[in-house]
Amino acid sequence: MNNKNTLLRELPKIDKLIDMIKQDEQFKNIPYVNIYDSVKETIDSFRTTILKGDIIKVDTEEIKKCIIAKLKNKLSFNFKRVINATGTILHTNLGRAVFPKGLLKHLENSLSGYSNLEFNLKTGERGSRYSHIEKLIARVIGAEAALVVNNNAAAVLLCLNEFAKEREVIISRGELVEVGGSFRIPEIMSLSNAKLIEVGTTNRTHLQDYENAITENTSLLLKVHTSNYYISGFTKSVSNKELVTLAKQHNLITMEDLGSGIIIDLSKYGLKKEPTIIEAIKSGIDIVTFSGDKLLGGPQCGIIVGKKELINRLKKNQFLRAFRVCKMTISALEFVFKQYLDEKKAIAENPTINRILENSDEVLKRANLLNTKLIDIGISSEIIATKSIIGGGSMPNATINSFGIAINNIPAIELEKFLLEEEIPIVGRIQNDIYILDLKTIWEDEFLYIVNSLKKFKSRYIGKNRLGDI
Ligand SMILES: *Cc1c(COP(=O)(O)O)cnc(C)c1O
Repeated sequence: MNNKNTLLRELPKIDKLIDMIKQDEQFKNIPYVNIYDSVKETIDSFRTTILKGDIIKVDTEEIKKCIIAKLKNKLSFNFKRVINATGTILHTNLGRAVFPKGLLKHLENSLSGYSNLEFNLKTGERGSRYSHIEKLIARVIGAEAALVVNNNAAAVLLCLNEFAKEREVIISRGELVEVGGSFRIPEIMSLSNAKLIEVGTTNRTHLQDYENAITENTSLLLKVHTSNYYISGFTKSVSNKELVTLAKQHNLITMEDLGSGIIIDLSKYGLKKEPTIIEAIKSGIDIVTFSGDKLLGGPQCGIIVGKKELINRLKKNQFLRAFRVCKMTISALEFVFKQYLDEKKAIAENPTINRILENSDEVLKRANLLNTKLIDIGISSEIIATKSIIGGGSMPNATINSFGIAINNIPAIELEKFLLEEEIPIVGRIQNDIYILDLKTIWEDEFLYIVNSLKKFKSRYIGKNRLGDI
C-alpha cells in the first residue's frame, strides 16, 4: 500500500503537464479544453492502474506519450471517410450511397455563401425551397409533381398522416416489412394515426382480399416493396394495375413505398428485374415514395412523387415543417437528378449505379493493379472471385460477380483491428479466417492508403517479431 501511495505522489502535477504540452510547437493554438481533458484523463487512468498494482514505476515520458495520443485523437474528427472494402455497395453503416464526383465542388459553389433557398429571384420575393427540385424530379420520373422530406420513413409517415388519418389503410400481409434501423410498417401506421387493415397471407394475396376489406372508412390501398427479403415458391401478389382499377372503382388513393427506388431499368443491363419508380407512376399509382440514398445514389432524403393534387395536400401538412430538408440536401439532389436526365450520364457518373452495372472485368483490372502493388511491398496476397451485394435493403437476393484480394499468412483479426484504427480506416471482411478486400467498392484513388496501411502493418508486426514471413 505504501508503495502505491508513493507512486501516486510521484505522478506529475496536472498544471505541470499542461505547461509541458503547451510548450510543444505542434500544439500551439489548440483549444485549452482539449489539453486539459487529455491530461486529466491520462492521469486518472494512471492513478487507476497504480491502485490496481499494475505499475511499479512512474515514467513521465510514458505519461506524456499517452497524453499526446489522447490529444491527437481529440483533435481529429470522429466522423470521417473510410475505405469500404466489404463489397456491399449500399452499406447502411458506411453511409449508404457515395456522392458523385463533382458534387462536393457544386456544394461548395452553392453553399459557401448565402443562397436563394427560399427566395424567388424573378420576383424578388419569398420563394419555396422545394421549387428548385420539384419540376426536375417530376420530369425525370414522369410524374405530375414531387416533394422531398428528410428520409423515406418520413415520406411514408407524412403521406399516411395526410391521406389516411383516422381512416383505414389496406395492405397485404406479405408486405408488412421491417427495414433496418427500426422502420416498421405497422408502427409507422399507428404513428400516422392511420388504421392498418391486413389482408391475404404472407405468401398469397388476391385482389379479392383487398376488395373484401374495403369499407366506408377505407381511404388508401398501400403497397410496400419487400426490399430486404424475398418470398418465393407458391406466391401471389396483386399487380399495380389491378390495384389502381380497384381503387378507382371505390374512389380510394393508391400508394406504393418503393424503398430502394431505382430509376433505371437494371434488367436492360442483365440484372434481375426490379420495379422502377417510372413504371410505378406509369401504372397509375397515385403516390410513390422512395429513399434518396439507396439505389438513386443521392443524399439522404425521402422523395414523394405522384398526383399534383395530392402533393399539394402534403405541402400543407404540419409534419412537412418537421420533416423539411436542409439546403445541402436540396443542392445535392438537384445535382444528382440532373445526371438522370441522361441515362448514360447517370450510369457513368453516379457511383452507385456505376458500380452496380460495372462489368466484372473492370473489377478484375482493379484487383490486378492493387494486388501487384501489395506483392511489391512483400505482402502475400492473391486474387479471388467474390460475390458482392447491392445492400441498403435493396434487391435481397441479387449478387454481383466481383473480385477480391485475399491477404494470406496474416492473422485476419489482428489485421482487421489495425486497419480499423488507421487514419483513413479500412473496413474489409473476413471469410474463413482470411482477410479479404473486395474491389467492387474500392476506388483506384484509395489504393495508396491501402498499400501504405498494409506496409505499416507489416513493418510493425515484423518489427515486433510476431510474424515471420508475411
Ligand atoms: C429503406 C426503406 C424505408 C426507409 O427509408 P429511409 O430513407 O431509410 O428512411 C422504407 N420503406 C422501404 C420499403 C425501404 O426499403
